[in-house]
Amino acid sequence: MTTAKQYIAQAFESVKARNPHETEFLQAVEELFNTLEPVIEKHPEYIEENILERIVEPERIISFRVPWLDREGKVQVNRGYRVQFNSAVGPYKGGLRFHPTVNQSILKFLGFEQIYKNVLTGLPIGGGKGGSDFDPKGKTDREVMNFVQSFMTELQKHIGPSLDVPAGDIGVGGREIGYMFGQYKRLNQFDAGVLTGKPIGFGGSLIRPEATGYGLVYFTDEMLKANGKSFDGQTVVISGSGNVAQYAVQKATELGANVIAVSDSNGYIIDETGIDFDLLVDIKERRRARLTEYAAEKATAKYVEGSVWDYEGPFDIALPCATQNEINAQAAERLVKNGVYAVAEGANMPSDLDAIKVYHQNGILYGPAKAANAGGVAVSALEMSQNSLRLSWSSEEVDQRLKDIMTNIFETAKTTAETYGLGTDYLAGANIAAFEKVANTMIAQGLV
Ligand code: GLU
Repeated sequence: MTTAKQYIAQAFESVKARNPHETEFLQAVEELFNTLEPVIEKHPEYIEENILERIVEPERIISFRVPWLDREGKVQVNRGYRVQFNSAVGPYKGGLRFHPTVNQSILKFLGFEQIYKNVLTGLPIGGGKGGSDFDPKGKTDREVMNFVQSFMTELQKHIGPSLDVPAGDIGVGGREIGYMFGQYKRLNQFDAGVLTGKPIGFGGSLIRPEATGYGLVYFTDEMLKANGKSFDGQTVVISGSGNVAQYAVQKATELGANVIAVSDSNGYIIDETGIDFDLLVDIKERRRARLTEYAAEKATAKYVEGSVWDYEGPFDIALPCATQNEINAQAAERLVKNGVYAVAEGANMPSDLDAIKVYHQNGILYGPAKAANAGGVAVSALEMSQNSLRLSWSSEEVDQRLKDIMTNIFETAKTTAETYGLGTDYLAGANIAAFEKVANTMIAQGLV
């Protein structure tokens, strides 16, 4: 008889053999598989049903050409994708990423993570992800619109309120979603439920822009409280300066933390007096400028080139909110040396597998991405509910629901870890709880 351990090892070998060049996707699969032994031991039917072989194959991948005209009237071509990974618990749901690094491996890792994240919210949404290698940086509004209209001309054939509901991710915010919605409407009809993260005015939800950052802080606050700590008086370093980082700065500060750093792809700001949320948002959102402007305008701030995880100085809590694999083993060791006792992830897969090992070895409280950053997609699902009801809830109502969802996710991760005798391993707790739900649902649906 095959043991759970052997089964997982065999299944992983086969994923590697079938997707040899998809390093990010393999990493996300390995991270999940590493934690599944106890739950597969408990459920021999998962081996019988070949469940691991099934969950690693996307239901469908759509890949397409996106031709568009730049400001000089020249034809440019990018690649567009939608990975429709798993619809066991609901329509495919997940963001679109516009970034030059986008490829099939990255979108498969993101889509794979999204399945489990979405299940953890307790809301009826499956997992998907998409995007393009288009780089919005340095483009005019018109160029972005030209690109987006061409992108949606193809994507609209594959999405719909009960089929697949895209939203934003890196490089895709309210502006891009607005243009996408307009193009969808011209080709079909007004249907608010086809995209989330829409601007207020045509079906957007209050608190959606804030949701990932706020949700991250709500989750982290629960994790800290369960371990006799809180944000109050703690020094926090946040990476990134996009939407997730911005609202994490605001909420952590509100809870009494001193956030001393944020970063962009070139460097980071250290401001011991606390990052000024309004100035940060003005620079990033209104001016669409770089962080160097922050240092130029605020006397207490210093701009340093390089990764914020190279920073040497004492702090307590790290909230990586930039991108995948920003923290490796060396950076994780530096966090330990700096005195950090908690890491919670606003970005998707910001810690690599070796960094996670360092957290475990040093007893760092670790809030993994698929649990800690689920607030964004959770409020997207609330946006879908409001669109179906044809009404909109107040900020207070959405914020309260978000808080309840994040508290529930933490409780699920915590109690599942405890049930399996895994202490405070919230990664294993979240993975096991989410995987069990997806696996049971798929088995109940027969051969899917
Ligand atoms: N891109 C976000 C995520 O990584 C949000 C997706 C959504 O709202 O559908 O979860």
